[in-house]
Amino acid sequence: MTEITEGVYFIQGQDEMIPDSHVYVIGEPGSEDLSLVDVGLMGKGAYKVDAILKMGVKLEDIKRIIMTHTHLDHIGCLAEIREKMPWLELWIHVKEGEALEQGDERTLYGMDMFRSMCQMQYGLKEGDFTFKVDKKLEGGESLDIGGMAWEVLHIPGHSFGSIALYHRTKKVLIPGDVVYADYAIGRFDLHGADGPVLKDSLLRLAELEVDILLPGHNRIVNGLPAGYIRETAKQWGSYLA
Ligand SMILES: [Zn+2]
Ligand SMILES: [Zn+2]
Repeated sequence: MTEITEGVYFIQGQDEMIPDSHVYVIGEPGSEDLSLVDVGLMGKGAYKVDAILKMGVKLEDIKRIIMTHTHLDHIGCLAEIREKMPWLELWIHVKEGEALEQGDERTLYGMDMFRSMCQMQYGLKEGDFTFKVDKKLEGGESLDIGGMAWEVLHIPGHSFGSIALYHRTKKVLIPGDVVYADYAIGRFDLHGADGPVLKDSLLRLAELEVDILLPGHNRIVNGLPAGYIRETAKQWGSYLA
């Protein structure tokens, strides 16, 4: 786990055949009110807990998990993480939160073929990802997380309940799988995805001043060029129309 800036920590995903999402830990050190942002793929929880402990963070200071969205590579190890921290609340955008509570796993797997593959490979069963959601986010909230103000933006398109977390003064954006480094964007062919809607979300993110881009996969960027997200939306524009 590495410090990106005060109150923002990074645990790199360990991709295998299926990618494992990065995890961010947010909240001022000493606040005793930290949050995890995403958790990662099945089997990828233990090393993340170790990384947190190695940084000297007390597990009991972590209070909740905020999901950028509920694809399997982001939420797969939730049960594993909760074995170590059973008190963790789960905060998700209302659309994907309600789907999970109702046992609707279409967004989780994204497509039927992937569902069968994962159920075979990991021994997953229907209902393994039915969770109670402690707080349903809508977008537009300003959350006080460990003494820091994080804005929630609803940015559908990659999935219908994707959110970004944005820290305005530190100019930090955590956009899940909506926009990555190197002018890449999230896929928009899975269940609940929508190209034109994704383009809209990118254009809304483009309004923000962002110095530090912390996506769900691949490189993180410290010192993002001005206009980067707008340029990314432009490059993908014709595919997203
Ligand atoms: Zn995703
Ligand atoms: Zn992902």
